[in-house]
Order: sequence, then C-alpha cells, then structure tokens
Amino acid sequence: MRRWALDLLVCPRCGEFPLLLVEHEVRNVETKMKIKAPPCSSYCSLTNSKDISLDKCVRCIQEEVVSGEILCEKCGFRTSIRSGVLFITDFQSPEELQT
Ligand SMILES: [Zn+2]
Ligand SMILES: [Zn+2]
Repeated sequence: MRRWALDLLVCPRCGEFPLLLVEHEVRNVETKMKIKAPPCSSYCSLTNSKDISLDKCVRCIQEEVVSGEILCEKCGFRTSIRSGVLFITDFQSPEELQT
C-alpha cells in the first residue's frame, strides 16, 4: 500500500479523518515519475500532519508500506496491512461494525 493512501482513508466506523498509520515495514519503490505536486492533498502520513510540503511528501510516492496497521484514535478501529495489501475486508466486516 502506498503511503499516500492515508490521504484518502476515512474511518468506516466513526468517519474520523485522518487515520493513524503504524508502519512495521516500509520499502522504497523506484519511480521515474517527475513529481511536481505532493501526492497528499489534505493529510500526509509521513509528517503526520495536514501541513504538506513537496520536498517531504515526495517520499509518499516512493514508499510502500509492506506491513503495519491503520488505527482510528477516536473509536479504536484498526485494520492491518499485510504483504503490501490493505485488508479492506476488515473495513467492511459486520462484526466489526457492531462492536
Ligand atoms: Zn473511528
Ligand atoms: Zn505525503
């Protein structure tokens, strides 16, 4: 999962934004793309702030989160990232939504 996905994710349970990324393993990915604008628009998980600057945020395109967790600090919702994949099914689990 690319780091900038955090710029788009909203808590499925309470609607909180942004969610907190806890990264366990991150790897660099090659990109030949010329980056002119930051990939994040309203929240950058790299700086953990809504203050987005191109020189830092450029890494959001070059970093892939291989494993980690995404947490909602407000309601305690959490889901995991495994082998670079965000488990969206966790987001939609009815059991999760009932608790
Ligand atoms: Zn929440
Ligand atoms: Zn960013």
